[in-house]
Amino acid sequence: MPQPSPTAAPQASRSVRAPELRVQGREADGASPIIQVSGLEKTYQTARGALNIFHGLNLQVETGEMVAIVGQSGAGKSTLLHILGALDAPTAGTVICASVNVATLFPREAAAFRNREIGFVWQFHYLLPEFTAQENVAMPLLARGTQKREALALAANWLREVGLEDRASHRPGELSGGEQQRVALARALVNNPRLLLADEPTGDLDQITAGRIFDLIDRLHRSHGLTSILVTHNLDLAARCTRSLRLENGRLSALAAVPQSASHAGSL
Ligand code: ADP
Repeated sequence: MPQPSPTAAPQASRSVRAPELRVQGREADGASPIIQVSGLEKTYQTARGALNIFHGLNLQVETGEMVAIVGQSGAGKSTLLHILGALDAPTAGTVICASVNVATLFPREAAAFRNREIGFVWQFHYLLPEFTAQENVAMPLLARGTQKREALALAANWLREVGLEDRASHRPGELSGGEQQRVALARALVNNPRLLLADEPTGDLDQITAGRIFDLIDRLHRSHGLTSILVTHNLDLAARCTRSLRLENGRLSALAAVPQSASHAGSL
């Protein structure tokens, strides 16, 4: 998978255009699901032939939901997040995300869409090592043209919100794994996106730190009225989401509730 840049992750290749479908009315947001995927297909052309990842995948997410997606490695979880976030293009199907038909976006539109609507968090934080925590958080604001002084002030507020106000001038290498992920969360949300897409956000952390980061995501999700999709192998954390889905054989299905005692035994 490509390594994302903090402000505008890899550009999607766009082959499908339907301008009339590009932007759905924002005024309809309250009534319609914030994510509506239907008949999604994704095929990668590889040296050994075509690799079909999804087989008519459907997904509907209502505003305010926190949805966990679990599944075996290689099932296509990251690919799905990338398509939702306009980092990758579907081969077929409709993908409406935050009122936008993402398959129709030109690369520059896709970058603006991500900057405005999507907060990404990855397993690895991808903070820029030569910049301070505060500067890292300010990057998406600077990318959209916010004045530096204002961007840094907003970044300071966000560092306070994730409990790191006393680490603002630290560089990523001077922070713990959990602190780095807090900075990454602040950076993801500094532009007030509607959607948080998190790909194994606690996957590189010890169990206690993972729980704390999930608590923080949960709090931010509620307090900022986010809609969140979390890819995770951790069934305990998945059980704390509004809904858990399993991605298997190219489709999503509801994940049966796992008794807490059983889920403590481990992860997928
Ligand atoms: P997961 O996140 O569930 O582990 P991924 O979405 O990363 O799965 O990958 C799904 C499948 O697609 C894997 O078999 C992977 O090897 C393949 N894949 C992902 N990206 C590409 C690509 N750019 N080209 C070819 N195959 C890819």
